[in-house]
Amino acid sequence: MAKQQAFRYNTGATRVPWAAVGENYNAEDLYEVVKFLMQGEGEEYEAALAAVKKEIDKLDEVSYPPSNLSLGPKVREAEAMVNEYLGTDSAVFLANCTAGFVNAYKYANLGPGDEVIVPAITFIATMAYPLEVGAKLVFADLDPKTLNMDPKDVERKITDKTKVIVPVHLGGYPVDMDPIMELAKKHNILVLEDAAHAFGASYKGRKIGTIGHFTGFSLHEVKNCTSFGEGGILTTTIPEFKDYMIPSRFFGVDFSRKIPNWLYDVGAIPGKYGPFVAGNSSTTEIQAVGLIQQMKRYDKILEERTNTAKYISEKLSVCDAIIPQRIGEDDDVVPSFHLYLLQIDPAKAGGSIQTLKRKLEEKSVTNIPHFGPLYHFDILKTFGYDAEAIAKTCPVCEDVFNNRFTHLPVYGLSMEQIDYMIGAILDSIAEMQRGE
Ligand SMILES: *Cc1c(COP(=O)(O)O)cnc(C)c1O
Repeated sequence: MAKQQAFRYNTGATRVPWAAVGENYNAEDLYEVVKFLMQGEGEEYEAALAAVKKEIDKLDEVSYPPSNLSLGPKVREAEAMVNEYLGTDSAVFLANCTAGFVNAYKYANLGPGDEVIVPAITFIATMAYPLEVGAKLVFADLDPKTLNMDPKDVERKITDKTKVIVPVHLGGYPVDMDPIMELAKKHNILVLEDAAHAFGASYKGRKIGTIGHFTGFSLHEVKNCTSFGEGGILTTTIPEFKDYMIPSRFFGVDFSRKIPNWLYDVGAIPGKYGPFVAGNSSTTEIQAVGLIQQMKRYDKILEERTNTAKYISEKLSVCDAIIPQRIGEDDDVVPSFHLYLLQIDPAKAGGSIQTLKRKLEEKSVTNIPHFGPLYHFDILKTFGYDAEAIAKTCPVCEDVFNNRFTHLPVYGLSMEQIDYMIGAILDSIAEMQRGE
């Protein structure tokens, strides 16, 4: 087909193209993708699949392959949609959220001796790079209301070595960003927001992604929005770094400049304190297609999450031993409701969250204790962190984690499942109160 002129390596309108890839994908491959994405069984399913196969086969005759499989027009289209949605102009689509964090940490020229303040409860991805390069992790205690980092404790833990503060919007509930940004400004510290859960959330009328110096969003399959299972978005508010967001995704390769006798130049990326070497966190065009489709219905996804969370909070409000998920109005925030954060008052509930979690499990309600105090992990011990000593500096976190907090699913559930879950929680607390 004529359109195959769009060579993957754009070496000009040559008679001999550089088709530097393996066999192009064909109808058989597309059929396998359809079969994978839309699984099923039974006669009806098999018949529908056979009909699809017949039609897909015809495409072999009449179609031509895409011009790019990696970092092409679909990636740019997905980024444009994300920028429009977030109100940003810097979004890059990367292999995952963690890769975005790495680029932001590299911008900070993070290394041994530097300190990074992270919340006591998060996922290991927040802090893997600082650990890797030998920076020191400092754990901020939590605000018991939101379970996010407490800006007052962040302030207490800032030293002249603090280079980065990493607010994590746990469950999609925005961190109180104003005091964090003020501290950052006062002490010349970089703010990297871990917004893995917070795509679409806002803080005081500003979308998350437009506040901190960098913000990373996850598109992993368990998050609010995905690009076929893996992916991430990084945004920046640093004007002079915007032009380096794309080169820092791929080795600093710069096609706008060439060294003699070659196609391009490779540049070091200017960080805050000096140049750094960019790695590779590229995404594929297929992932971009996945993201574009999710973006088209993201408003609906968020609406369902929001409605479900509000419904659960309302129904649980009959029980004064339960502290329901905050809905956001009191704090002038709009959460993205990635998780439903449930807290109890153990004195009123007649027991701790561990009892409630066990009872919910017995009643067949999912219990995935995924987010906990990271300083208890073996990897931190291995690198010289003293969990006991750190725990003493995070008393709210210890109490919340051991006695008060769990999280519930809030998406993709039927009304019947939601009502069952609410009933199971209320019944379990009533049992605990009766000493059962
Ligand atoms: C999922 C997650 C990440 C990492 O996201 P990836 O896209 O898998 O790299 C980071 N932080 C938190 C809090 C997460 O839950």
